Amino acid sequence: QQKIRIGITGYGNLGKGAEIAVNQNPDMELVAVFSRRKLSGTKSGVPAILLDEAEKYRDQIDAMLLCGGSATDLVEQGPRLASVFNTVDSFDTHAKIPDYFSAMDAAAKSAGKVATISIGWDPGLFSLNRLLGGAVLPHGKDYTFWGKGVSQGHSDAIRRIPGVKDAKQYTVPKQEMLEAVRAGQEAPSAANETHSRECYVVAEQGADLALIESAIQTMPHYFAGYETTVTFVSEAEFQAQHAGIPHGGVVFRTGQTSPGVGHVVEFSLALASNPEFTASVLTAYARAAYRLSRQGAAGAYTIFDIPPGHLLPQSPEELRKLLL
Ligand code: NDP
Repeated sequence: QQKIRIGITGYGNLGKGAEIAVNQNPDMELVAVFSRRKLSGTKSGVPAILLDEAEKYRDQIDAMLLCGGSATDLVEQGPRLASVFNTVDSFDTHAKIPDYFSAMDAAAKSAGKVATISIGWDPGLFSLNRLLGGAVLPHGKDYTFWGKGVSQGHSDAIRRIPGVKDAKQYTVPKQEMLEAVRAGQEAPSAANETHSRECYVVAEQGADLALIESAIQTMPHYFAGYETTVTFVSEAEFQAQHAGIPHGGVVFRTGQTSPGVGHVVEFSLALASNPEFTASVLTAYARAAYRLSRQGAAGAYTIFDIPPGHLLPQSPEELRKLLL
């Protein structure tokens, strides 16, 4: 049987993770990596191609993993590539998902392709588990705890403050609240009540540290309203202690089926590398996108629309053995 031929667009953290993930799946073959930059090569040795040339690979790629950033790359690259390839992306600007879905749906439908959007872990596997919890326990409450992990958006926001050379922000769940929810107790669910933020900052020589600290702690939308600690570290300590991109978290649904009969549904992730894991989710959904496309489907899909059986290489008959 022929392998599923995969392309990767964007060679940042997620793109590099995708290269690793695809190579772990024996039913897949990585064809090329596409980048806006002229890359000197790829880790796995597959060709690095300029993104402008991607359309020429129309007949050589069964599914394209879109690994650009959500803020500006995907809104532009997504519809363009969805009109040529089956695609999978991890678009995570939550408020803009409906607009992005419409743009991807139109592009994919007109090309007869499948565009799977907002795949990853949040949005992604966490969304799916919230859906399952809510369906099974209609009388209940959702809780999501993120971390401990690096938030790239918050780290970027700190790096934009004058006097900051480098920075990393960890989102940290309040453990006592997490344990209370796990034990079936009521707890607040607002993110700023259930999480704190830890910032590690390398300052420029001579920078006013007190000013940087207050600029972080009062930054609207990002830090204001959160318990935020700022720790200044040397460049050497930053490299040694804060080079990784770990993340994860826990989704809970707690509810009662009759008075006094409570249940707790829990799904948790502890990820040593957010991009490598997210890319692994994209890769599984690339298989599903390819299969849907082979069945004649076209248009945009979210994680809610994709049958789980399409995620594994086995046939439905083989998969039924997992039920035994
Ligand atoms: P990066 O900033 O590492 O990469 C984004 C793009 O920037 C790349 O595709 C690449 O495009 C370009 N780029 C990367 N490195 C460089 C460089 N050194 N110089 C110039 N350009 C560069 O972002 P991530 O890969 O970490 O994350 C991508 C997106 O994944 C995030 O925006 C986020 O939305 C999403 N994500 C979603 C998750 C989910 O659960 N849904 C979880 C984690 C991430 P090019 O090669 O074309 O230049």
